[in-house]
Amino acid sequence: MKFTEFGLSAGLLRAVGEQGYDTPTPVQREAIPYVLAGRDLEALAQTGTGKTAAFVLPILHRLTHDANNSPLSRATQNTPRALVLVPTRELAAQVLESVRTYGAHVSIRSLAVFGGVGINPQIQTLRRGIDVLVATPGRLLDHLGQRTVDLSKIQTLVLDEADRMFDMGFIRDIRKIVERCPKQRQTLLFSATFAPEVRELAHSVLRNPALVEVARRGTPAELVTQSVIRVDQSMKRDLLLHLFASHGWHQTLIFMRTKHGADAMAKKLEQAGVRCAALHGNKTQGARTKALADFKSGKLAALVATDIAARGIDIDSLPRVINFEMPNVPEDYVHRIGRTGRAGVEGEAISLVSSEERIQLRDIERLIKREFEKLTVPGFEPQHHDSVPRAAPHPSKAAAPKSGQRNSAGRSSGAGARSGGPREGSRDGSRGGPRSATAPKAGGPHHTGQRHR
Ligand code: AMP
Repeated sequence: MKFTEFGLSAGLLRAVGEQGYDTPTPVQREAIPYVLAGRDLEALAQTGTGKTAAFVLPILHRLTHDANNSPLSRATQNTPRALVLVPTRELAAQVLESVRTYGAHVSIRSLAVFGGVGINPQIQTLRRGIDVLVATPGRLLDHLGQRTVDLSKIQTLVLDEADRMFDMGFIRDIRKIVERCPKQRQTLLFSATFAPEVRELAHSVLRNPALVEVARRGTPAELVTQSVIRVDQSMKRDLLLHLFASHGWHQTLIFMRTKHGADAMAKKLEQAGVRCAALHGNKTQGARTKALADFKSGKLAALVATDIAARGIDIDSLPRVINFEMPNVPEDYVHRIGRTGRAGVEGEAISLVSSEERIQLRDIERLIKREFEKLTVPGFEPQHHDSVPRAAPHPSKAAAPKSGQRNSAGRSSGAGARSGGPREGSRDGSRGGPRSATAPKAGGPHHTGQRHR
């Protein structure tokens, strides 16, 4: 997609072109249409993803093109119409520079206010009239105290790097500032993580927000070993319990498609002695916060989650993600596995795939341009041998199946052959199944697939 497809004004497109940008980054592609449409936004994106332009461009467009923003109706003294709150003066300066760069060919007045410099020049500029104000919370409160700024005409409020603002102790200041903005406004929240306190803030300041989540720089998949285990749907639960029992997995995030499924699975795991909790939209905020905290601290060995609930789970050393059911939307697979392999720590993503899910699997393989190695666990081999349609558009890049891993019936002999256990062995956990001694990674199944780069 190109920048020209957003419907941004000619002046903005010209400025974007002058920067040499032609193609929007993922966060821009996802966020700009929502912001242009006036929606609130909850965006998980870190610095370096192009997030600043993702909010600056549509804000400038709306300020200069919406009917209620004709030059005559523009507010004048001390009444900005867009406010960007940022944690540091450095970021304030950077955001202001972006506003000025992208606004070079439109009629917009902008200012950054932050501490550590004289307040009087800021007061004088505010008096002359400002459209976009970029501010750190402390200095903005000083201005509000001196009545040198009035936020009653704010149409769009941006909370940029919300997680850092929390870390720096700005939460009470932010709440005071939000109270001074009109209730009828557009609010955009950007954060590199969705820690529980950020979620709580988002909950209280956003109205029906669109969710945007983009991969971190250096896509998470780089550090994630991905594998697929073929298994019949009816055997998945037993297989999962077997894997937990035989490997003593801890901090494992399990994805289910439905809330009901997540609850049922959490119950089964608990019954089998695996400490776990379910995380989904029907849980209260308190229950979600507690489940996450217990999972992070290691009290829970497993967290069973739905896609939406898991967005924003940010645990730096999460070792393992299990796709108990494949997502219908292939992009969700990328989001799911992006929960692990963070902060330079390796992780693994294991998908349990039944023959009914072959289409979803094929779509995911197309999206990530890889064909997975398909494994089976002895004692849990699928009885339905529907072949998975081949999909990798770049077969040359796909890892070649190792010899002996798949026979003509679609069965893998890999794990069984390596472990020396009988193919149709018993399921008592004493044989068959992946063994960490020879697995590529402690706790993982045999041949847990290729490392995707
Ligand atoms: P940010 O995440 O907003 O700090 O932006 C990171 C860097 O990406 C900045 O230097 C931007 O100028 C640059 N940038 C923003 N949008 C694009 C784009 N569409 N294509 C290439 N670079 C961009």
